[in-house]
Amino acid sequence: MNIPFLDLKQINAPYEQRFKKRFEDFLGSGTYILGEAVSDFETAFARYCGTDFCVGTGNGFDALRLIFEAYKVKGKLASGDGVLLAANSYIATVLAVIQAGLKPVFVEAETQFFNIDLDKIGEPDTSVKALVVTHLYGQLGPIEALSAYAKKQQLLLIEDASQAHGAVVNGKRAGSFGDAAAFSFYPTKNLGALGDAGAVTTSDERLAKTIQSLRNYGRKDAQHYTSLGFNSRLDPLQACFLNEKLNDLDAQNNRRRQIASRYLKEIQNPEIRLPFFDFSSGHVFYVFVVLVNNRPHFLAYLNQNGIGSAIHYEVPPYKQEALKSFNHLSFPVTEAIAKSCVSIPLNPALTEAEVNRVITVLNAYHA
Ligand SMILES: *Cc1c(COP(=O)(O)O)cnc(C)c1O
Repeated sequence: MNIPFLDLKQINAPYEQRFKKRFEDFLGSGTYILGEAVSDFETAFARYCGTDFCVGTGNGFDALRLIFEAYKVKGKLASGDGVLLAANSYIATVLAVIQAGLKPVFVEAETQFFNIDLDKIGEPDTSVKALVVTHLYGQLGPIEALSAYAKKQQLLLIEDASQAHGAVVNGKRAGSFGDAAAFSFYPTKNLGALGDAGAVTTSDERLAKTIQSLRNYGRKDAQHYTSLGFNSRLDPLQACFLNEKLNDLDAQNNRRRQIASRYLKEIQNPEIRLPFFDFSSGHVFYVFVVLVNNRPHFLAYLNQNGIGSAIHYEVPPYKQEALKSFNHLSFPVTEAIAKSCVSIPLNPALTEAEVNRVITVLNAYHA
C-alpha cells in the first residue's frame, strides 16, 4: 500500500461535477475579473470567520503584504517599524514584512504549540508596532495570551491564518482575533483553490476599503487613483471553486481531527514524539507534525514502507541564504524543531485502511 503525503487530485475529485457546473456559469457570466463570484465569496468567508469584511487577494503572501501596506497608508505603520513574529514561521510571513519596508523581529518558539514564546519577547524596543501570529500547523494555541499581550503593548495584531481555516478557540474562529488576518488558499491548504488565491479578513471597515483599493492599483473610481497600489485581485474562477469548497470546510476539518485523534491515541512509540493536542480545542490539523531524533533514518523507513512525508520546515527563515543579515541569530528551540520535525499523511482523502497502515508502520519503527 502506497500512501502519498497529499494527493491534490484525490482531494478535488469529489468536486468534479460541481466545479464543471461552476465553470460553465463563470464562462457564461462574461465577468473575468472581480465581480459577483468574488464578492459572494468575500461575504461568505467573512461570515464564516466571524468578521465584518473579507477582501480577496491574489495569494496569501499578498494578503499579508497588503495588510502592512494598508496600515502604512493609514499612518499606523511606517517604514522601519519592527514587527514581532515567530522565528519558526513560514518564509512568506517574513518576506511580506521585509518587502513592506518593515523590520522582522524574530521571537523564539515555545515547546507546546511551537508558537511565539511570550516569555522570550522581553521588553520590545519602541520601534516595534505590530505582532504577527502564525497559527502554525492549524492550531490557534496561545492566541488569547498573545492577543492580550498585543493589547497591553498597544501593538497591531495581525494573524497569518494560512494554515488554520476554520480553527476555533472559545467559539471564535481564526481570522477574527486580530486587527486583520491573512489567509492563503494555496491548493494544499485546508481550504484550497485550484491555483493561487488569498484573502484578508477584518472588522475594520476603513482598513478593508484601503485594501480593496490597494489590491486594484490604488483605485478610487474608474479614473482616479489615490495610493500607489498593486495588482492582486482574487481570481473569480478561483472564487467559484472556493465558494463550492467552503460549504464542506467544517466537515473536512472534522475528518482531519478524527484522524488526528486516532494518531494521538494509537501511535505509541517512545521514538516518536506526538504533537500536543487539547481534545476540546478546534485544531484543524493542516499538518500532523511528529518529532524524531534521527530524521534521515525515520524518513528512509517511511519511504521504504510507502508512506509519504514532508518537512514543515527544515531551515528556519532567519537561517535562509536570502536573509543573510539575520543568519547570525540563534533560537535553540526553533532549531531543535527544524531538525527533528516530520509531517505524516493527514488529509480528508485518507481511508480508514490507510490510517490503520500509518499507525502500524509508525508503531513498528525502531530508531
Ligand atoms: C501558505 C502560507 C503562506 C503563503 O501563501 P501563498 O498563497 O502561497 O502566498 C503564508 N503563510 C503561511 C503560514 C502559509 O502556510
